[in-house]
Amino acid sequence: MGNLCDVVVINHAFHLLTCPDATIRNIMANALRDMIKKQIGRAPSNQDIATFLSGSLDGEFGRDGGDIASLWSRARNAMHRLGKHIGCRWKWCEEHQELGILAPQIRSNDYTIVTLSTRGILERTLKATIHSLYVETLKRKPHQGKAFELTSKWDASNHFLARGDFTRFADWRFIHCARFNCILLNGVVHQRNRDKRCRKCDYSNKTLPHVLCSCKPHSRAWQLRHNAFRYRLVKAIAPCLREVAVNCTIPGTDSQLRPDIVVTN
Ligand SMILES: [Zn+2]
Repeated sequence: MGNLCDVVVINHAFHLLTCPDATIRNIMANALRDMIKKQIGRAPSNQDIATFLSGSLDGEFGRDGGDIASLWSRARNAMHRLGKHIGCRWKWCEEHQELGILAPQIRSNDYTIVTLSTRGILERTLKATIHSLYVETLKRKPHQGKAFELTSKWDASNHFLARGDFTRFADWRFIHCARFNCILLNGVVHQRNRDKRCRKCDYSNKTLPHVLCSCKPHSRAWQLRHNAFRYRLVKAIAPCLREVAVNCTIPGTDSQLRPDIVVTN
C-alpha cells in the first residue's frame, strides 16, 4: 500500500509538470523552481530539478531549506522511498530537452523513460516494476513449499490467495508463513548446537510436518481436522444423490469397516 501511495503522488506531480495546458504547466514549473532555489540557494538548472525531485540528499540538496510540506516535498519523499525499492528516479533528457522518469525493468538491465509524450503510461509502468520486484523476491525465497507443487495444479486449491474467500485472517497468516517455512519451530531455526527436539513428544526434529501430521500428543487435533474435511465434503455432495452415511458400517454387508462417507443412489 505504501508503494502504491508513492506511485500515485509521483504520478500526480508528473502530470502537473507535463500538463497539456501551458498555463498550468508554467505555474507548476515556477513554483517548483522557487522551492528548489530556496533549498539550494541559487537558480536551479534542469539537472538540479531532476536531482531534487529524485529525493537526493547530497550536498546542498540535503540542506534544511526551512520549507513547509507541499506537493513537491511529498513527491520528492515518495520518489526517495520508491527509488530505494525499485531504483526509479527523475531524469533530465538532454537530447529531447525534457524532464522524464526512469523506471528500471527488474528482470533485465533495461529501463523505460516516461516523458511528456508517454505521460499516460507512468502509473502503469511503475506499478508493473513494483509487481515484478515482489514476484522476483517471492521466487528467491529458499523454501517454496512442498504443498505448493500440488496445489498449483488446480486454481480452486489456491482460490483464497487472490481474494481470501472462506479464509480467516489467522489462517491467511499461517498459510503463508507455513509455505515459506517461516514458523519458528525448533527444527526450522538454523543455529548450530540448537536443541531441535519436539517439546511435546521428544521426537528428534521438530519440523512443521511433524507438528501438523505426526506429533502424537496432537492426535485429537488430527481427528478434528479430518472430521472438518469430511463435513465440508458431505456439504458439497449434490442433494439429488441422496442417502449420505458418515462414519457408519455399510448397510447390507457384514463388514465392520466404517468408511468416512458412503453415498447410496
Ligand atoms: Zn512431537
